[in-house]
Amino acid sequence: MPVEPPAPEFEPSTPVQYLPGVGAARAERLRRLGLRRAQDVLFFFPREHQFPPPPTRVDDLREGCPATFIGKITDAELVSRTPGKSLFAAIVENDSGAVRIVFFNQPFRAEQLIFDRIVRLSGSPKLAGLRWEFTHPKYELIEADEADAESPENKGEILPVYPLTECVKEYELRRLTRRVASVLAGGVKEVMPPSIRADASVRLREAGIELVGDLPGISTTLRDIHGPPSAEALTAARTRLIFQELFVMQLALAMRRTSLTGRLQAPAMPCTAKIRQRILRRFPFELTADQNRVIDEITREMGRQFPMNRLLQGDVGSGKTVVAIFAMMLAVASGHQATLMAPTEVLARQHYQTLSKILADSRVRIGLLCGSLTAAQRRETLEQIASGELDLIIGTQALVYDIDFHSLGLCVIDEQHKFGVRQRVRLREGGVDPHYLVMSATPIPRSVAMTQFGDVDLSTLREKPAGRGEVHTYLAVDSWRDRWWDFVRQRIAEGRQAYVVAPRVGNESVPRDPSTESPDDLDELTLLDEVEDVTSVSRTFENLRDNVLKEHRVELLHGRMKPEAKQDVMQRFADGEIDVLVSTTVIEVGVDVANATVMTILGGNRFGLAQLHQLRGRISRGVHAGYLCVFTDGEGSPEDSERLKVFEQTSDGFELAEADFRLRGPGDMLGRKQSGLAPLRIADLNRDIEILQVARTMAQELIDEDPGMQAEELAGLRDQVLRRYGDRLDLGDGA
Ligand code: ADP
Ligand code: MG
Repeated sequence: MPVEPPAPEFEPSTPVQYLPGVGAARAERLRRLGLRRAQDVLFFFPREHQFPPPPTRVDDLREGCPATFIGKITDAELVSRTPGKSLFAAIVENDSGAVRIVFFNQPFRAEQLIFDRIVRLSGSPKLAGLRWEFTHPKYELIEADEADAESPENKGEILPVYPLTECVKEYELRRLTRRVASVLAGGVKEVMPPSIRADASVRLREAGIELVGDLPGISTTLRDIHGPPSAEALTAARTRLIFQELFVMQLALAMRRTSLTGRLQAPAMPCTAKIRQRILRRFPFELTADQNRVIDEITREMGRQFPMNRLLQGDVGSGKTVVAIFAMMLAVASGHQATLMAPTEVLARQHYQTLSKILADSRVRIGLLCGSLTAAQRRETLEQIASGELDLIIGTQALVYDIDFHSLGLCVIDEQHKFGVRQRVRLREGGVDPHYLVMSATPIPRSVAMTQFGDVDLSTLREKPAGRGEVHTYLAVDSWRDRWWDFVRQRIAEGRQAYVVAPRVGNESVPRDPSTESPDDLDELTLLDEVEDVTSVSRTFENLRDNVLKEHRVELLHGRMKPEAKQDVMQRFADGEIDVLVSTTVIEVGVDVANATVMTILGGNRFGLAQLHQLRGRISRGVHAGYLCVFTDGEGSPEDSERLKVFEQTSDGFELAEADFRLRGPGDMLGRKQSGLAPLRIADLNRDIEILQVARTMAQELIDEDPGMQAEELAGLRDQVLRRYGDRLDLGDGA
């Protein structure tokens, strides 16, 4: 390539059309990639890099050794003797000689590999007579320009690979980005002070990132990402860009968190040793070390006059509710009200019963607010809440958001596995915010917790209370059916109870995300979702009742039943008057019967991982081992089988959540409204989790020390934070 003189003929703001070698037609195609100005090109980062071997000359080809060969097609011929049998052969030639390529029974090759085109081949050649021959090589048609022996593609250099649209060619873009980087990279202003880069480098290495020396300055970084001189330089450049992107995001989240807690007021409810003792005495068991630790985290925050905003995550049965009850009792002991919102009425009633039992013979007054109250009952309850006669209010989310509280100190939201966009409770004129505690049984993958939930504090229960039954999970094939039902009947004969979960109907294997709707619609939504399933569950029920389970007491439960009917069935199941409950996923959120240890899931391929895990949680509640058998519809996709295999092999909710995230991405886990974060250009939350962790820690430390990022040397970084996240996260200029 001829050496060109330095060309100061363009600047960051130059439209791409006027960049060397672009012109109007290419500019139009570049615009489709979002590249309008030279600076866009400079910051258009490669998706990955390739390390292609340089092409081989004919004399250097070796029998059976993989090689790349570039040349022009100088002869091509398709021979077809009998129908369905053909041979395509072509000669590919360059200045070092010629090779032959052959394809059997692939006549369409003749349409691609035509006379005079230039092609890059790769494969293992063998000597056929005097000529090297590649059978079924991989190939790519290229332009003359790219075939040039001096081009980066042919010198064994590391090649950036850009995310492209159809109409832009990789090699064209490579030339352009290199050129732009060589002219403009030197002039880009550094926003990350050397001290931050040096500190980050040390921590990244401690976190296991392979990094030689410090994170490079921005000019070197931009030059190296588009044209890496070595693998080390490439790693350093990539790491710097990934770190910077995540650091800027984490700074924004840390700023928001700090400014939120600084602005809002909540009642301080310190937990003294005496109060703690009094509350603990109410539980019929010792708390686990994990529960005690999490209670410490929570009470420490409730003792401050800023609202807590905390997510408590832990598997089904890990004892979250007990922790929440502790927090609610602390609120009441401090003279405030507390509320517990459940996603369904069934759950609300269950929480109400649990609390009533624990607080029997205490002075704490508990109220239940749910859809099946009469108008008069409801009016009375609301009055008691407003006047402060009730201390603890349990209810469904749809109702509780509308209440006027007398003095709400703590709001606990039991979301089971559903994360939603959360409304805040109504505040009285001049009232202060309550503390918030959200419980979730589907652990959030670490990376999601650090990004979408970046301004929420996290408490995690990993240890389960002792004596939890183990669940054996089997992924069944159809031929097991008879044997499995035998097994179910035996367990029932031993006195155990069983669940049968009917398949969902339709292709939607993932539960609809209610967070995209307003919480007021939630109850109705749950019902709508089940319309179709009702036919399916009824059919399953009749079939089992009349055939394999005809000796036993079988009952049906689904979300379309009247609340009293539902309640009645659940109560009789809990009392052991029903052997088998055939149900839709309504049991996923709710029923807590320790004697039920056998579960059959039909059409398991139609359920999401989180949901399957929730279902399994229903049979790990007692001292007896649980047995779960999952049947599929047969027509499951490869992703379905992958998911089910993970489910069979893993019983840890945290591992499952990470797997779910890998298989499905974060999209399905979160409400769309909630992921209000800018799309990432180069970082990948799955892959770059270690870098994310370092960025988060450093961002929080920096903001703790300098909440407004006012230090002179942080001006550039602060600009970037506000430009990228100011509007989205409502940081405001003063932050
Ligand atoms: P989660 O809300 O996480 O599903 P719960 O708080 O409902 O879990 O606890 C599940 C079951 O375990 C309940 O029956 C509860 O009484 C019991 N439990 C909770 N903590 C303990 C403990 N420390 N020791 C023994 N049993 C416990
Ligand atoms: Mg619970």
